[in-house]
Amino acid sequence: MKDIQKTKILELKKQIELSEKPLIITHYNPDGDAIGSVLAFFHYLIKKGKNAVIVSPNDYPEFLQWLPGNEHVTVYKRNSGTVLNAIHEADLIFTLDFNDFERTEGLEKYLNESKAIKVLIDHHPNPKDFADISISEITYSSTAEMVYHVIESLGDEHLIDKNIAECIYCGIMTDTGSFNYNSSNPYTYSVVSKLLEHGIDKDRIYWNVYDNFSFDRMRLLGYCLHKKMEVIPEYYTAIISITKEELKEYNFVSGDTEGFVNIPLSIKNIRFTAIFIEKDKQIKISFRSKGNFSTNKFAEEFFNGGGHKNASGGYSNLSLEETLSFFKNQLPKFKDELKNAL
Ligand code: 5GP
Ligand code: MN
Repeated sequence: MKDIQKTKILELKKQIELSEKPLIITHYNPDGDAIGSVLAFFHYLIKKGKNAVIVSPNDYPEFLQWLPGNEHVTVYKRNSGTVLNAIHEADLIFTLDFNDFERTEGLEKYLNESKAIKVLIDHHPNPKDFADISISEITYSSTAEMVYHVIESLGDEHLIDKNIAECIYCGIMTDTGSFNYNSSNPYTYSVVSKLLEHGIDKDRIYWNVYDNFSFDRMRLLGYCLHKKMEVIPEYYTAIISITKEELKEYNFVSGDTEGFVNIPLSIKNIRFTAIFIEKDKQIKISFRSKGNFSTNKFAEEFFNGGGHKNASGGYSNLSLEETLSFFKNQLPKFKDELKNAL
């Protein structure tokens, strides 16, 4: 794995030592990597004698709430005063698993106004230029893996304990779909091997995240695959769309549709998948692909979004029906790219 520049590490070490009010923040709709990373870094800072504040812009699913330290996360949507005050008072802000303040959906103004030193640790492409110390590298499986590397580079590997190891493992596991993608770098496994030495129960972490759904969620998945999936073989594409009413019928709670978008990728010859979910004000979209098709460019160009090559997202302000036909109208332009993706 690429070394992090020595000057950055020295500066980071100094800033952590100087900081009295560190704050760690992640992106809107945080996933396992986002929550795993912020909690791992939180436990690390505690061990360094720093009592950090952790901010999530909004709530996240129950299957991420079992992680050690979860009770220390303050959710902006529910505690806006506390969070704004903490951002105002922070002298060091760590932005984990995102690289553009817009991804906080509402906190960008306050982050821009903050006088704190900003430290970015993230593995998404094309970072915005807001960080005083930017550790941005797309070759890592996950931000959680980067957190491991940062702690190691700071000379503090000995501070990694079972709690930190669990959080980091959860981040790596979820961002690689349980080592299914973004996980061909040997460094990932050297980190996992060290995490296992801390006595983490990797099977239990898997159960906590993936085998913790409701009956309603399983029925919603069945309904989506049976009635709402559309396969478009000439473009190697499959899509799923869900209306607000359908979500209500299956007693939707946050996190229930997590992972649905990956499933049609297991159909032979499908290389590009999308899920369109009708929310109150817009259509939220997730994209996935196999091989060389860059979903993040597609998301950026047509759906105000971004992310990684094989996993990205965006949104549309059109109706669900209009969004679907807009999406389908773009596909012919990508026929060759999709054909040659694998
Ligand atoms: P998911 O589909 O699981 O919500 O997100 C997959 C990836 O796409 C994540 O890395 C996430 O950060 C990114 N992503 C999802 N939605 C958006 C969006 O609206 N804008 C941008 N820039 N990235 C997104
Ligand atoms: Mn991530």
